[in-house]
Amino acid sequence: MITIALSKGRIFDETLPLLDAAGIVPLENPESSRKLIIGTNRDDVQLIIVRASDVPTYVQYGAADMGVAGRDVLIEHGGSNIYQPLDLEIAKCRLMVAVPEGFDYEGAVRRGARLRVATKYIDSAREHFARKGVHVDLIKLYGSMELAPLVGLADAIVDLVSTGGTLKANKLVAVEHIYDVSSRLIVNQAAYKLKRDSIKPIIDTFSAAIGKQA
Ligand code: ADP
Ligand code: MG
Repeated sequence: MITIALSKGRIFDETLPLLDAAGIVPLENPESSRKLIIGTNRDDVQLIIVRASDVPTYVQYGAADMGVAGRDVLIEHGGSNIYQPLDLEIAKCRLMVAVPEGFDYEGAVRRGARLRVATKYIDSAREHFARKGVHVDLIKLYGSMELAPLVGLADAIVDLVSTGGTLKANKLVAVEHIYDVSSRLIVNQAAYKLKRDSIKPIIDTFSAAIGKQA
């Protein structure tokens, strides 16, 4: 059995055509089903539906043989025991620093002000501000980071941005780009060796489907 860990939403939606190319069709839609293990048309392949940030953990421990995870999640996770054979170039976005419209971010940085920054991405944020020599107090949140500056919890946020629509709706502007994000195929290293005959063809089909050499 090959177990593939996916998260609902964008990653699931954009992975579906790749699974399809590999002849793997889920028997249920995770958005409407409450099942966490979803069978496929193939007896030897099942999907598990987990939180995006938990995908690398399932793969690391071998509870899933493979998975799809954002570069943001992989950087924060650390990625031990995980092989990353392929950038799928899906779920693209950017990790950015954003502040309320009218907040003089550059000025605050120049003055050496100490900034309160709310984020889910503690490690990425810490490294970014350390590299710039900006003093920050990081406040860990698990979602809806855009709210924090609006209610005085933080001066700035570090969050993923794609269209900028959510920032705009909350009167925030992006002021710094930290890194580009896309989702990668990840594989448990032991599974890659032991189940190579099943896993390698899936990797090869995915890479052909996105127009890449494996
Ligand atoms: P959760 O709500 O479980 O924290 P999301 O569904 O918001 O996770 O995001 C899952 C993954 O999708 C992220 O780790 C990231 O790689 C990607 N992602 C998040 N936001 C965007 C976006 N606005 N555009 C494209 N990809 C995104
Ligand atoms: Mg989200």
